[in-house]
Amino acid sequence: MTRKKLIAANWKMNKTPKEMGEFIRAFSEVKGQKVLEASRVEVLIAMPSVLIPLARDYGLPPEVRLGAQNMHSASHGAFTGELSAEMLLSVGVQSVVLGHSERRQSFGETDHAVALKVQVAVDRGLEPILCVGETRQEREAGLTEKVVARQVRVVLEGLRDPSQRLVIAYEPVWAIGTGLAASSDEANEVHRFIRGVAGACQGSVYADSLRIMYGGSVTTQNALDLFQKEDIDGALIGGASLDPRSFREIIEVAQKVVSIP
Ligand code: PEP
Repeated sequence: MTRKKLIAANWKMNKTPKEMGEFIRAFSEVKGQKVLEASRVEVLIAMPSVLIPLARDYGLPPEVRLGAQNMHSASHGAFTGELSAEMLLSVGVQSVVLGHSERRQSFGETDHAVALKVQVAVDRGLEPILCVGETRQEREAGLTEKVVARQVRVVLEGLRDPSQRLVIAYEPVWAIGTGLAASSDEANEVHRFIRGVAGACQGSVYADSLRIMYGGSVTTQNALDLFQKEDIDGALIGGASLDPRSFREIIEVAQKVVSIP
């Protein structure tokens, strides 16, 4: 099964409209847009919500998918500070990052709250990027598989229809923003495990086509190693995605890997 690689930026709470404009100019200048058009690699930027309605006018190429970083499960109502799937769709959002460890840890998002958001997103036609991953303490206690299995099962077991697509991002919490990426072997092993859990929940056809990205200190240096692994279908990139040249270079690494017969 060939799964299209997905290279996604997570800008977190970074960039003003002016800074986004500078990024887009530099990002598009490196080699021109043809490379993206011809690409068998999907590219996405999950940006702060205020930037989303501006991004196309600022020149973001149509080949780059528009992503949000969070969403509320309700469609409207008294939820101060929140945004619904309908609102995201109305400004052109195609994908939404859900259950990022920063949301789980700093904003108290539970497995069940994340599962509900994923179900709402797929019901409305948004592609969720479900983030899962263990903390350092959990890894040291040998709990990696137990934790990610729990985080994946609560979402996939509840999925009403297996044709509803989502992407999983395996993001070991200890690797996010620390410069300590998982090795490609370590990451691939967890990805294979996640695929097995997905198979047990929704069947092997579903699991074979499920894209599982890696996230956690991906850079231009480690991207090649990671993307060559069988079960690693791309990357969710924080720090290195803020710089247009390094984000571009990581995309080019993925393009090179998929063009190897
Ligand atoms: C992230 O926040 O999703 C992430 C992977 O960040 P970084 O690449 O900076 O580790």
